[in-house]
Amino acid sequence: MVDAIELDFERPRKRLFIALMSLSLIIVALLGFGVWRVSYLGLREISSYLPTIIGGLFAVAIIFTGLGIVSIVGAILGLPFFSIFQRKTYALINALFPVAVLIGKIFGVRRRKIERSFVAVSNQIIHQQHIKVKADELLVVTPHCLQLASCPHKITRDPMNNCKRCGQCDIGALVTLAEKMGFHFFVVTGGTLARQTVKKIRPKAVLAIACERDLTSGIQDVYPLPAVGVMNLRPNGPCYNTHVDMNLVRAEIEEMLIETNGNSNKTEEKENDNG
Ligand code: SF4
Repeated sequence: MVDAIELDFERPRKRLFIALMSLSLIIVALLGFGVWRVSYLGLREISSYLPTIIGGLFAVAIIFTGLGIVSIVGAILGLPFFSIFQRKTYALINALFPVAVLIGKIFGVRRRKIERSFVAVSNQIIHQQHIKVKADELLVVTPHCLQLASCPHKITRDPMNNCKRCGQCDIGALVTLAEKMGFHFFVVTGGTLARQTVKKIRPKAVLAIACERDLTSGIQDVYPLPAVGVMNLRPNGPCYNTHVDMNLVRAEIEEMLIETNGNSNKTEEKENDNG
């Protein structure tokens, strides 16, 4: 079904996100330095050590953030990701993201493009860690808009039993895949329900299908849980009868699962594809 859909996506460029994050850091550093210079005399009046202490702390924060960005670049290039930065990366991204969006706006870069670039960078970092979990430790969540709007079946509570797999939307294919591979699959109506589902299932890894905005906030929300994002396809506009590239979803899931007899699907699928 997806093959027939015209994909309006450009390839996400990881370097866009990196460039904007670096620029954001430079701007924050310059602004911070300006504020420090202006307040220098005032700080000195309070204590002669205060300008040095505050300036030093700020410099350490900037250097640490800079090294975090260098570490992300390294991970994209295939170098090991230092665990000290790994833990702080999403906190750094959270802090700098609004500045990056603002700079993007000045240069005419749409927020959606920046978010897409972030998801690509985040996926690359996760791939780089070669995270492997058992099928029942993986949670796949997808938004409600993936369901055919005219479908009468209530699938948010129990897609595995309530979807009739009529083939009119991608939910059916995901239910079949979940049954075959053994991962948890849920359809959620928003970020709150997604977070509740993560709390309830307590997975070790997440694969989320959503638009770039929801993926960006979702990936940062569930951190330190590793979450791979797959962008939905929106041939009918946002939030209405959306689709997903099932080949991409399957490939991402296979990448995350420990191969067992129950989920050694690469070969199975290939065999099936070959008839
Ligand atoms: S595949 Fe499932 S969710 Fe989609 S239209 Fe058919 S019954 Fe409804």
